[in-house]
Amino acid sequence: AHLARIEAVDEKVHAFLHVDCEGALAQARAVDEKRARGEKLGPLAGVPLALKDIFTTEGVPTTVGSKILEGWIPPYDATLTKRLKAADVVILGKTNMDEFAMGSSTENSAYGPTGNPWDLTKIPGGSGGGSSAALASFQAPLAIGTDTGGSIRQPAAVTGTVGVKPTYGAVSRYGMVAFSSSLDQGGPCARTVLDAALLHEVIAGHDPLDSTSVDAPVPPVVEAARNGSVTGMRVGVVKQFRGEGYQAGVIQRFDESVELLKELGAEIVELDCSSFDLALSAYYLIAPSECSSNLARFDGLRYGARTGDDGTHSAEEVTSLTREAGFGPEVKRRVMLGTYALSSGYYDAYYGSAQKVRTLITRDFEKAFEQVDVIVSPTTPTTAFAIGERADDPMAMYLADLCTIPTNLAGNAAMSLPCGLAPEDGLPVGLQIIAPAMKDDRLYKVGAAVE
Ligand code: GLN
Repeated sequence: AHLARIEAVDEKVHAFLHVDCEGALAQARAVDEKRARGEKLGPLAGVPLALKDIFTTEGVPTTVGSKILEGWIPPYDATLTKRLKAADVVILGKTNMDEFAMGSSTENSAYGPTGNPWDLTKIPGGSGGGSSAALASFQAPLAIGTDTGGSIRQPAAVTGTVGVKPTYGAVSRYGMVAFSSSLDQGGPCARTVLDAALLHEVIAGHDPLDSTSVDAPVPPVVEAARNGSVTGMRVGVVKQFRGEGYQAGVIQRFDESVELLKELGAEIVELDCSSFDLALSAYYLIAPSECSSNLARFDGLRYGARTGDDGTHSAEEVTSLTREAGFGPEVKRRVMLGTYALSSGYYDAYYGSAQKVRTLITRDFEKAFEQVDVIVSPTTPTTAFAIGERADDPMAMYLADLCTIPTNLAGNAAMSLPCGLAPEDGLPVGLQIIAPAMKDDRLYKVGAAVE
């Protein structure tokens, strides 16, 4: 049924870069056969899922939304892919994304944009716009995203779906193409809080193949999602997450959510986290710096596309020509920014200062979590904007992640879930819930209570 739905609507939505009909049907049949034999089934047996095209899939193309990996067929599965298969999930295909997960609209995909199912002229968020659009257009009940600065939560917010960025290190990065390794985190996307929890439990957990993987039990997220409650909880509202640039309807729905939390028995605490004002600037030095280093491996020799390999160019020229042809403008902008910020003479002023700001943000969160159990905010300052509207203005695009980025810099956990439609445009608004590191279960407990 889901393959038929994809067939019927994805020409318009363009959520998928690759639909793996054969693979999906084979996985579904394998589940049926297991069931017929009376074998024990995985926890998500037969449930279809849309996988962001940043995770390697053995024998199935993985492009990261880039021309530089066009035609590359990975010889191995990411740890996350393996865990999905072990849970008997049916992987429908790979979803569209901003190239190398750099963007907030999916317009930076080398394979064309994805439409927001609520209004196809609007962006579905980014970088994981393919995954969020697949959920919102009922092409898949579950999806996977990755969140470096907001790429799970912002797409969830603008498509009226649920997205969770788990604690940094909770979900293995092995086989997840690296953008900014100290920030990147895979996580679950779904249409309900409980669905997200069921997927979270399957993909999280220690992986010896990822050196930053957390070696601790997965927080009880499913139990929390089944027992939503905020009674007696202290909920923080951060002063810095409102003001100029926030759409009136977004603030209205957010304020109503805070009222609802109060009615349900939460105590609201006002918080002042002044370092959050610097988060965006710090992020746009740290993320490009790490990206300039991570993307050095795309040299035209190891993977995917190669340009200028006609016997007339040196290896160095082939690398240069391949990168020139293979990377899109946003990726080039970031590699150049990062190379500059890391260069000797500028390192202290840019990368060094950004790391100091990162420490301040972590401390502001620590202080906040001495006073509250969770923090709430709008997920994004505005609802979905029009395709093309911010395409030529990187600064305007970067503002979409104003509320999501502090969490990535500090490494703690956050969720976005729908909290109504903005009155002025009828588009979905997201409520963000933020919890301390390894307290991911609190997101689900609060999320299930207000859903
Ligand atoms: N929009 C942010 C960026 O462009 C975040 C991307 C992400 O989380 N992958 O870097």
